[in-house]
Amino acid sequence: MIIFWHRRDLRISDNIGLAASRQQSSKIVGIFCLDPNILERDDIAPARVTYMMGCLQELQQRYTQSGSQLLIFYQDPCKIIPALAEALNAKAVCWNWDVEPYSQARDRQVREALKEKGIAVHNYWDQLLHAPEEIRTKSEQPYTVYTPFWNNWKNQQKNIPALSLEQVEGLTTTELEIVNKLGVINLPTAKELGYTWDNQLLVEPGEKAAQEILENFCDRAINEYQEQRNFPGIDGTSKLSAALKFGAIGIRTVWQAATNAYKNSRSDESRNSIQTWQQELAWREFYQHAMYFFPKLVEEPYRNIFKDFPWDNNEIHWQAWCEGKTGYPIVDAAMRQLNETGWMHNRCRMIVASFLTKDLLINWQWGEKYFMQKLYDGDLSANNGGWQWSASCGMDPKPLRIFNPASQAQKFDPDAEYIRQWLPELSSIETEYLITGKISASDRASCGYPIPIVDHNKQQQEFKARYQRQKADTNS
Ligand SMILES: Cc1cc2nc3c(=O)[nH]c(=O)nc-3n(C[C@H](O)[C@H](O)[C@H](O)COP(=O)(O)OP(=O)(O)OC[C@H]3O[C@@H](n4cnc5c(N)ncnc54)[C@H](O)[C@@H]3O)c2cc1C
Repeated sequence: MIIFWHRRDLRISDNIGLAASRQQSSKIVGIFCLDPNILERDDIAPARVTYMMGCLQELQQRYTQSGSQLLIFYQDPCKIIPALAEALNAKAVCWNWDVEPYSQARDRQVREALKEKGIAVHNYWDQLLHAPEEIRTKSEQPYTVYTPFWNNWKNQQKNIPALSLEQVEGLTTTELEIVNKLGVINLPTAKELGYTWDNQLLVEPGEKAAQEILENFCDRAINEYQEQRNFPGIDGTSKLSAALKFGAIGIRTVWQAATNAYKNSRSDESRNSIQTWQQELAWREFYQHAMYFFPKLVEEPYRNIFKDFPWDNNEIHWQAWCEGKTGYPIVDAAMRQLNETGWMHNRCRMIVASFLTKDLLINWQWGEKYFMQKLYDGDLSANNGGWQWSASCGMDPKPLRIFNPASQAQKFDPDAEYIRQWLPELSSIETEYLITGKISASDRASCGYPIPIVDHNKQQQEFKARYQRQKADTNS
């Protein structure tokens, strides 16, 4: 018997570790640990847990259809996995690697404990098209700049999807009695775990839904992605981020669909669009590689100059940002989208992150955590990478990037569709005022909308001045 430990690969198709386990044995039992060390943290989004539980529900059904079981435990994996493997007399425990520092430390402990019991461990790279060790500079160093990373990454041969799990043998009645004694539980709902998300999820959870989303996107929107992806009022992106985070879809399946769309495309525009989307998949890998090679990114900025940056961290400004009440329409619309849906358009993630750090002078780590508390696709590597990029403290060769909320709105929400959608109290205000933010004080008062909490021009000057002082101090 092989025990397959699912973590962020909640599917049976195109799962490298699961397919390899199947080759070694016809008796496979799946396990998923609801890990208290993760679920009891204070940066967990109810929408994300709801999505994950939906994926687990489908995965459990798929195991049943395959003739086996997916066992659920609410226990520390370091304790339950070795105990389970020993009690079931398993030949091996297998799982797919992860890049996150917590997962790596936890996996080391589980591996050691299994080794002590004489149980084999097999690990695989599944969540990336290329494992971190595969993509290095000419001098064998990890990349710290995206463009050369992409140039190398795109030219490497990509694997095709792995075989899906077919019929296997599961646990016998006697073995099921053993797992009951170890505390196996019925799959709880997110609510039962203490995470209530009453709004609709942006997309259906699970493997089947993810496959459908991918197919629909590759049939249509991918061909116009380059143009449409920047407009938050248009549904022009794939919405696959949560499926990719939890592995409801395999990355090889995603790549293959994009490659097929490229082969079938009829225009240069469409081919450029598809390649732009592929570049986003490479950003995902770039940030995961960065997390793997530079685990300190979890705690600190990549650039030293930001280590002791004199942030204001004004609590009143912070609350206004979180609630979407800064008086800057595009920023507030985006924060309301996040709070209400658990998702925010990428363009707006960059706008609100720039606003928090460069206009409000609030530490990017506060924003990073808030995003994790809300995002249904919240992912340590992508979120940390996105925040460090936006705060200018990460792996970005451009020293300072400051987004002007008004120019961003004028360019990317020219008809104020997005602003009106998320700030209905402003629906009577003319487009020109919504996108420039030049709404009169009396209109603001009559709509119950706040006056701007800071002056963008002044604040960006202040940020630049502090940055220059920090730079001088760091170099001296
Ligand atoms: C401040 C900030 C925080 C972010 N936090 C997260 C996060 O927690 N989780 C997350 O998955 N993405 C994050 N992103 C990246 C990006 O905003 C989302 O991946 C994207 O909006 C998801 O929508 P989509 O699936 O429709 O993306 P698409 O545009 O269709 O892109 C396809 C896939 O590529 C990946 N991707 C796209 N852009 C990026 C990027 N910039 N960095 C890394 N991967 C990318 C995602 O897996 C995405 O699903 C963040 C970006 C910023 C600026």
